[in-house]
Amino acid sequence: MTNNGFISCSWLEHGIIFDHENILRVCCSQCNEGGGRPVLRGNYCGEILDWDKIFQQKREMRKVHRRGGIFDKCRGCILLKERQWDDEDYIDMLLLTHWINCNCKCIYCPAVRDEDLKKNNRHYNIVPVLTDMCNKNILRKNAYISIAGGESTIYPEFEDMLHLLLDYGCDNILLNSSGIKYSPAVAKGLSEGKLQITVSVDAGTRETYEKIKLVKTYETVSGNLAKYAAAQNEDKDRVCSKYIIVPGVNDREAEIEKWLENTADIGIKEVSIDIDLRWIQQNFEQLSHYRRIYELTAFTKKIAERENLRLRYDERAAIMRKIHRKGKNILGGTLCKIKG
Ligand code: SF4
Ligand code: SF4
Repeated sequence: MTNNGFISCSWLEHGIIFDHENILRVCCSQCNEGGGRPVLRGNYCGEILDWDKIFQQKREMRKVHRRGGIFDKCRGCILLKERQWDDEDYIDMLLLTHWINCNCKCIYCPAVRDEDLKKNNRHYNIVPVLTDMCNKNILRKNAYISIAGGESTIYPEFEDMLHLLLDYGCDNILLNSSGIKYSPAVAKGLSEGKLQITVSVDAGTRETYEKIKLVKTYETVSGNLAKYAAAQNEDKDRVCSKYIIVPGVNDREAEIEKWLENTADIGIKEVSIDIDLRWIQQNFEQLSHYRRIYELTAFTKKIAERENLRLRYDERAAIMRKIHRKGKNILGGTLCKIKG
């Protein structure tokens, strides 16, 4: 321990994950030497939790860092940071990823095709345990809450869950969605400036959308995005349209330009770009030879600026930029995960 504090991580200190294997974990990071994803409880199906027990388990892990060591599962994790960590028991990092089904079939999505995963997942209603966390003030109102999946909006408890979190005062909720099902609770979160939604559209035309998504919902998604854009709080516009470059399917300037123009037309201010994980894995050793894909990210930047759109580079697009702009190889935890 130094005057600056000691090394630990936000998830270990105050995080919890409800995952798709019916396991409660501390985090979902699994790309470090120690293996990550410390388990708090297995075989979980939505029961009210004994929080004293959960926090006691976390304290045992946290204690290692307070003594100047590194908890075994955390060895080599890039999320470890030195700072002054507090000693309190609360949750301010929450990942809800126990949803498994989706109303879309993106060609790049392994989860939607993993029949074993689906067979082994026992779905449960998350509302009672979240209500308990709110009633007991275990969940901080400024908690970072990420909702991923699967597609959470198709589950019957989704609206109640999101209303609960919004009414409790949570104001930092991030949702990844297919955008196919419109959610009034999402619109409410956007209007209150408490929620951010990202929808991966991946296309500027219906034809390309259907080749990637394998569902005929291009107009529905465009309409829902327009409604969400209209609902968002002017000071905190938080609707993001995303484009995952799938080489051989949507890797064309004209498609990207159309996507950005459509996005601007419906009132969205933020876009993000990424690259198909499968393609990155297959070409990992030769990424520096694929200048074409990097050039598409550069083209996206140029047109996004023209359309007054903020552009975010998501993980794989950021890696491609680093390799081609700075000639750097990628080090760190993401390497193992991406190499597969
Ligand atoms: S594995 Fe990494 S993200 Fe997970 S608790 Fe340990 S340090 Fe934090
Ligand atoms: S919307 Fe998300 S969960 Fe659904 S198929 Fe596409 S990538 Fe998978």
